Amino acid sequence: GVADALFRVVVLGDPGVGKSSLVGIFRREQEIHEQQASTNEMYECTLSVDGEDTTLLLMDSWECEVRKPTGSSDSPMRIGHAYIIVYSVTDRSSFESASELRIQLRRTRQAENIPIILVGNKTDLVRSREVSVEEGRACAVVFDCKFIETSAVLQHNVRELFEGMVRQIRLRRDGA
Ligand code: GDP
Ligand code: MG
Repeated sequence: GVADALFRVVVLGDPGVGKSSLVGIFRREQEIHEQQASTNEMYECTLSVDGEDTTLLLMDSWECEVRKPTGSSDSPMRIGHAYIIVYSVTDRSSFESASELRIQLRRTRQAENIPIILVGNKTDLVRSREVSVEEGRACAVVFDCKFIETSAVLQHNVRELFEGMVRQIRLRRDGA
């Protein structure tokens, strides 16, 4: 049934932006079990949000995989039910990469209304910020996705990020 469905959430973004850190914090908090049969970059976790459980399969560390042609059926651009696109607020080029990933995703999954959350991570590094919160928010408006800023180090907004993902997935599910 729908309640038992497993939603694949692919985490995208430049190397070093904090993808593994974000997933790592969340794993410890939720005691996510590493899947035996999968690579060590996939974690299954069940989140209780608004009184309902939803299971996510978080897929991390796709740096080399992302370079796969988007035409291949196992491309990360094809296998996700939902996407988290991460950049670092201290690294403008990672912000530009996030836009490119969004464009690539739109091109690959044209007809689909996929949940996407744009994440500006490393907000604790106040003095080395290169991308303002306004720029992040504006980018999300242009790319028609949700937006949140996080700090994996301070564990700020990480729970909100994943709960937001669950809510986005349910909106699509319930609207279908
Ligand atoms: P990934 O390559 O995207 O998986 O990035 P990692 O999670 O491996 O993080 C890359 C580096 O950034 C590591 O040294 C992390 O400790 C650091 N890092 C990740 N998130 C944050 C954050 O929110 N704030 C700060 N200051 N450092 C972070
Ligand atoms: Mg990583």
